[in-house]
Amino acid sequence: MIEIKGLNKVFRTEEVETTAINNISLQVEKGEFVAIMGPSGCGKSTLLNILGMLDSPTSGKYYLDGVEVGHMKESERTETRKGKLGFVFQSFNLVPVLTVRENIVLPIQLDGGKVDERYVGEVVTALGLEKKLNSLPGQLSGGQQQRVAIARALATKPAILLADEPTGNLDSRTSQDVLSLMKVTGRKFSQTMVMITHNEEIAQRSDRIVRIEDGRIVAQ
Ligand code: ADP
Repeated sequence: MIEIKGLNKVFRTEEVETTAINNISLQVEKGEFVAIMGPSGCGKSTLLNILGMLDSPTSGKYYLDGVEVGHMKESERTETRKGKLGFVFQSFNLVPVLTVRENIVLPIQLDGGKVDERYVGEVVTALGLEKKLNSLPGQLSGGQQQRVAIARALATKPAILLADEPTGNLDSRTSQDVLSLMKVTGRKFSQTMVMITHNEEIAQRSDRIVRIEDGRIVAQ
C-alpha cells in the first residue's frame, strides 16, 4: 500500500539546513497497522506529513498503491488524497458549533460528495457513537471526541488512516479503548494504519513498531 525508497526531507532557511528525514525506506502492506516512535524532533511528523501528501520529499520516491505521488502537482495531489487518506490528530479538531453527526459528514459535504448513510451508520455503531449524534463536541468527554474524529476520518472511506498522537490527550484507560476501536474499524474496513505515538503500551498493540532517530529508521 505504501512504499517509500531513499526518502529525504531537508528544511532550508537562510541560516540553517535541517535534515528531517534522512534516507528512509519503508514498506507498509495493505491492512497493516504500523506505529512510529522516536524522540521529539526525530522527524515523525515530517514523515507522516509526506505520507499524507501534505508535504513533498526533497528527494526519494513515494509509491502510494503503486503510483508515485511524492512529486505530484498540487491539483493531482488533492484528487489522489481523496478517498485514499484519512487523518486523525491529537487535538481532535472538531467544529464546536456542529453536532457530532454534522462533524462526521463535514469532509464529505465539503467535498461535494454524497453521504453513504449505511456505511456512516456502521462506522458510528462501531465507534459507539449512536447516542451522541445530536450532541455538540463540548458535551462529550475527550475519548468520545476522539472517537468522533476517528469516525470523521473513516467516513470518507480512506484506504489509509494516518494518526498523529491520536491518544496523546487521553488518559491511559481511554487511550486503550480508543486504540481497540481503531483496531476493530481498521480490520472491519480493511484499512492500513500508520500512527505516531509516544506511548510504548499503545505502540505495542500495533503490528510493527518503526523507531526513528535523527531522521533515520533505527529499528523495525
Ligand atoms: P517530530 O515529529 O519527531 O517531533 P518533526 O518531524 O516535527 O519531528 O521535525 C523534525 C526536524 O525537522 C526538527 O529538527 C524540526 O525542527 C525540523 N522541522 C520540521 N518542520 C520544519 C519546518 N517547516 N521548517 C524548518 N524545520 C522544520
